[in-house]
Amino acid sequence: MAVSRWKAVGSTLLAAFLVGLVVLIAVLLIRTYTLPTAVRKWNRNESLITELAEKERKQLVEALKGAIRIPTVSFSEEEQNTTALREFGEYIQKVFPQVFSSSLIQHEVLGGYSHLFKVQGSDHNLLPYMLLAHIDVVPAPPESWEVPPFSGEERDGYIYGRGTLDDKNCVIGILQSLEFLLKRGHKPRRSFYIGLGHDEEISGHKGAQKIVEKLQSQGVKLAFVLDEGLAVLDGVIQGISQPVALVGTTEKGSVTLDLTVNRLPGHSSMPPSETSIGILAAAVSRLEQNMMPNMFGNGPEQDMFEHLSTKFDFPLNIIMANLWLFSPILSRILELSPSTNAIVRTTTALTIFKAGIKSNVIPPTATATVNFRLHPAQTVQEVLDIVQNTIKDERVELSVLNSFDPLPVSPNDMSLGYHILQRTIHDVFSGPPVAPGVCVGNTDSRHFVNLTNSIYRFSPVVLKKEDVDRIHGLNERISKEAIELLVQFYIQLIQNSDTDNIPPPHLDTHEL
Ligand SMILES: [Zn+2]
Repeated sequence: MAVSRWKAVGSTLLAAFLVGLVVLIAVLLIRTYTLPTAVRKWNRNESLITELAEKERKQLVEALKGAIRIPTVSFSEEEQNTTALREFGEYIQKVFPQVFSSSLIQHEVLGGYSHLFKVQGSDHNLLPYMLLAHIDVVPAPPESWEVPPFSGEERDGYIYGRGTLDDKNCVIGILQSLEFLLKRGHKPRRSFYIGLGHDEEISGHKGAQKIVEKLQSQGVKLAFVLDEGLAVLDGVIQGISQPVALVGTTEKGSVTLDLTVNRLPGHSSMPPSETSIGILAAAVSRLEQNMMPNMFGNGPEQDMFEHLSTKFDFPLNIIMANLWLFSPILSRILELSPSTNAIVRTTTALTIFKAGIKSNVIPPTATATVNFRLHPAQTVQEVLDIVQNTIKDERVELSVLNSFDPLPVSPNDMSLGYHILQRTIHDVFSGPPVAPGVCVGNTDSRHFVNLTNSIYRFSPVVLKKEDVDRIHGLNERISKEAIELLVQFYIQLIQNSDTDNIPPPHLDTHEL
């Protein structure tokens, strides 16, 4: 009797479990295949001028090569090639004569070598926007390059050189598109600014910041800012086979700390139980062993996966569309590779360690430098508190060399700037899905937070996995088609920005 009752209970439980399982699978599948995609359907505006003539293509390629040949290198905060920066200013005047002579445009040099342009639109009621790019580049020692990094040499349809992807492509792209539009008699409705900073690679304090101060003193407010950043990624995100456009809606913050231990020096024949080197080494080791907390889901990174959920291959699409269930698993998987780990948490990088003066002397001082890149949901103060609690050793002195909080998250979908960007990406790159993303590096646009709440970081280029390593790396290059497409992007963007409102969203759903 008792046995059969237990059997009945057992089979009821099994039935309930199976029903539950079926319901769960149904929910997962329904969400996966009916989740609205963030992609809006656009009708390409055929009246816009975007095509480039053969002669213009050649001009453009020459303009970029000439720009690459001027070595505008930022070596360190203190050292820049100012001769090259000055030469670059003269170069753009020569190559883009319409931009520098048009009655619609005002130009001025700020901070010695940065450039600010205002292009006057015909409708004063429309809030202006701003395009940013930077003219300085990181150093490029020629060893291991296939072509000299400042030669602008062309090989197999690619232009090689430091700055071809970061960021002279955008500098030349913006000015060249404006030059072409002016030549065709285009007069914009909406005013816009162009800012070309000269020290982005070393903070932007002398360039972008001076541009911001100037605009603030004039009471300027901006509809949106577009700067370099993320791009159209082709085969870069694991599990997505088609190209996807990521627009950076925020960028990580940063803290650079010096850790110092001071002890009395002495002879190595009678050492104390701990030296400054041992104490400091233990402290930095604790920082490395105890990673900052995984913050997945607290910043915009979850939004990105959800926007792209239907683009992931099976079975990842089910996971991405159901992060309400799978978020803990995904956040662990993302930790496994350095590039995705950087998305889910504040990263800790031990970058400098200095100690010791002689092999038989107990070292008086040991110092280490640690660089943290802050997840959008953490503040500088929170990171400093965690560091102190992790080190837990009063003999280790902390001093902040520099710091800034993560940038506020700019709106997507209903923002005019995001809408215009999304539309232009669709027009020019044949409709890849567009999703918001987090920039793990920093850009000049971080100085513009008081001028607008809509800052977007997107470089209009298609990047494959191997291209990503070329940025700040060896053999940086851009194809001739890519630089043409980039100019067409800005030509289209400037025209698309003359719109004054956002059409209502048309969200697609995929039928089951
Ligand atoms: Zn850059």
